[in-house]
Amino acid sequence: MKVTLLGTGSPLPDPHRAGPATLVQAGATNLLVDCGRGVLMRLAAAGLPTPALLTAQLLTHLHSDHVTDFNDVVTTRWVTSPVDSPLPVVGPPGTTAFAARTLEMLRDDIGYRMTHHDDLGWEPGVTVGEVLEGPVDLPGAADAGVTVTAAPTDHRPVSPTVGYRIEHEGRAVVLAGDTVPCEGLDRLLAGADVYVQTVIRDDVIRRIPLQRLQDVCDYHSTVADAARTAARAGVRTLVLTHMVPAPAPGTEGEWIELAREHFDGEVLAPDDLGTVEL
Ligand SMILES: [Zn+2]
Ligand SMILES: [Zn+2]
Repeated sequence: MKVTLLGTGSPLPDPHRAGPATLVQAGATNLLVDCGRGVLMRLAAAGLPTPALLTAQLLTHLHSDHVTDFNDVVTTRWVTSPVDSPLPVVGPPGTTAFAARTLEMLRDDIGYRMTHHDDLGWEPGVTVGEVLEGPVDLPGAADAGVTVTAAPTDHRPVSPTVGYRIEHEGRAVVLAGDTVPCEGLDRLLAGADVYVQTVIRDDVIRRIPLQRLQDVCDYHSTVADAARTAARAGVRTLVLTHMVPAPAPGTEGEWIELAREHFDGEVLAPDDLGTVEL
């Protein structure tokens, strides 16, 4: 299994980091978790030139930074597919309505393209499965030996939110999304190999006198939180992503050192397109 950090950024625009998105590949199965700013550029750089190659789109929650480019995933899959190929989408309750509203937003463009292209005889489609807890039903995944499990996370007041555990050939990666430490996340992580967590540096943020930034501390794991969660679960590798405030290039080591105070395993703080094999 291969995990590619497509976007390690946050809501704040960054010249080096795209918005939150992670690609998990197991054999021929390509799962995209979240779809933040610039996701299709990064997906192409990771070797998937079109989202038509995606097995499914998974969403951890509907915060804008995690779903900004959902419309691009849907539209580009549609216009690059030779046949009608609805996008399987999995997300927390609310995802069905979000997907329907996205398609409604795209209505003018859908009309332009169908009028122009005689061979494009179908509208873009999505098949949404809403999940909060338990096994995720994905077409073809079971045959490919890939299992996906969801559990509720805690990003309140944003609710509901979910994390995912993806397993293949006895290995497991957990994509936590935005969450503080919680029981659902601990359950997903039991016996997992790799843990990908969105993190903040509260020690830095608390020195910045902007209330809107202070609010960010309420509902994210700090680096220490993520490291303690990783230690509790006994994972092999902790991957820090969605780092707020984004570290200046070359200073990621500070984040790794902070994590090492609480966790003895491997800690990574990758740039966009960084990969982890498991
Ligand atoms: Zn969020
Ligand atoms: Zn976020």
